[in-house]
Amino acid sequence: MRSADIRQTFLDFFAERGHQVVPSSPLVPENDPTLLFVNAGMVQFKETFLGHEKRDYHRAVSSQRCVRAGGKHNDLENVGYTARHHTFFEMLGNFSFGDYFKRDAIRYAWDLLTGPYGLSPERLWVTVYVDDDEAARIWLDEIGVDPARFSRIDGDDNFWSMGDTGPCGPCSEIFYDHGPEVPGGPPGTPEEDGDRYVEIWNLVFMQYDRQADGTMSELPHPSVDTGMGLERLAAVLQGNQSNYDIDLFRHLMEAAALAAGVDFDRDNSHLKVIADHIRSVAFLIVDGVLPSNEGRGYVLRRIIRRAIRHGFQLGTREPFFHRMVQPLVEEMGEAYPELAEQADRVARILEKEEQRFAETLDAGMKHLEEAFANLQDDQLDGGVIFRLYDTYGFPADLTADIARERGVGVDMAGFEQHMEAQRERARAAGQFGVDYHAGIHTDAETEFLGYDALEAEGTVVALFRG
Ligand code: ATP
Ligand code: MG
Ligand code: MG
Ligand code: MG
Repeated sequence: MRSADIRQTFLDFFAERGHQVVPSSPLVPENDPTLLFVNAGMVQFKETFLGHEKRDYHRAVSSQRCVRAGGKHNDLENVGYTARHHTFFEMLGNFSFGDYFKRDAIRYAWDLLTGPYGLSPERLWVTVYVDDDEAARIWLDEIGVDPARFSRIDGDDNFWSMGDTGPCGPCSEIFYDHGPEVPGGPPGTPEEDGDRYVEIWNLVFMQYDRQADGTMSELPHPSVDTGMGLERLAAVLQGNQSNYDIDLFRHLMEAAALAAGVDFDRDNSHLKVIADHIRSVAFLIVDGVLPSNEGRGYVLRRIIRRAIRHGFQLGTREPFFHRMVQPLVEEMGEAYPELAEQADRVARILEKEEQRFAETLDAGMKHLEEAFANLQDDQLDGGVIFRLYDTYGFPADLTADIARERGVGVDMAGFEQHMEAQRERARAAGQFGVDYHAGIHTDAETEFLGYDALEAEGTVVALFRG
């Protein structure tokens, strides 16, 4: 099944069961300065779940474009290292606003996976929250899931909450088992970090209202919010262990090899990173974000620079990243006409960023190589990280990324001291006066702390699953 068919099958399945098909919202949340980027399908329905907004339907289905590259959910550092995390991905989701609850949500998910998608029950593993007897009963007694492929999980992974107070509830997750040849253990065991069991679908049962004193009362209208990664599902359905082996990523990695002038190699993590990053970067630009030194624009710039750096590691010294736009349009332009329409604009913006960064990338990399050569211990000095940032435009996480590849640690505390000293100097010079939360300091840590802090202060913090 091609990715496009997998997406359509999901939408059709739920439309046939009374769900309104709702288009993906843009990646920049509307009227929500507290949230960096849309990171789950439920974001556009947040107000409906809270009961603040009425819609003329009680069931919805969507394929939502998501970015997890900052804020509460940040998978940027996972990209290139795991087989299942992307900065940009599509989340397939069905939603019930006070309509059906656990029984139907579970039944739908099981019927879709084992029916139209044709997955064998022996390949699936189901978890529920530790004390969710109701969901356990439905899975074991009504669906007939093998108790040997079922577990109860304690902790945040299986309990979703909106914040210290408000709607919350247990979730139930469905994993795909790639089989005993692949290292890794079932969810909830110490070996679960392996690639054998891959989480594909999360069903959240919004069931309780948590009070300030910690007590929980039943919500009058329990709701359902689910999310399944299209790329993970495509990997499973196409018989691949890695998302990077699905049709779409294979083509993008081939395009990356061509653009960078190297041979294609499916295990090359530089190609994976470039193929991943072109998607988040292009869609962020399409949705109105521009590279800049603050806020969302800075996160975009960091992702672009990370991609360019990986091209540099491949040996390319010419701007290449903008040449990924056309291949992306070939893969995704049909599902997202706005991408096709803005392709030239996106490519122009990227090429400009490449030219800008090229001026200092070469010199910065030399500086960094010298620092590696002169290491006193196994750690990169905070001053080096600061200089790379300040003089060459290397975001701290970019430096940390390269260090990680070399097995070298980074002195982030030392870096922070240098940053603080620079802030002091700016303050003393009277140039300060910019909103701290806007991330004007352009370093990764304060950037994300800014958004995290905002989210923690606001009401939306834990509307997003962990
Ligand atoms: P994981 O534990 O693998 O990091 P998660 O628990 O953070 O995933 P959820 O927040 O439950 O993920 O999101 C719902 C679904 O979205 C997941 O089951 C998965 O299929 C998909 N998903 C989550 N994060 C990513 C990502 N970075 N890239 C691709 N798909 C993702
Ligand atoms: Mg998880
Ligand atoms: Mg999850
Ligand atoms: Mg995660």
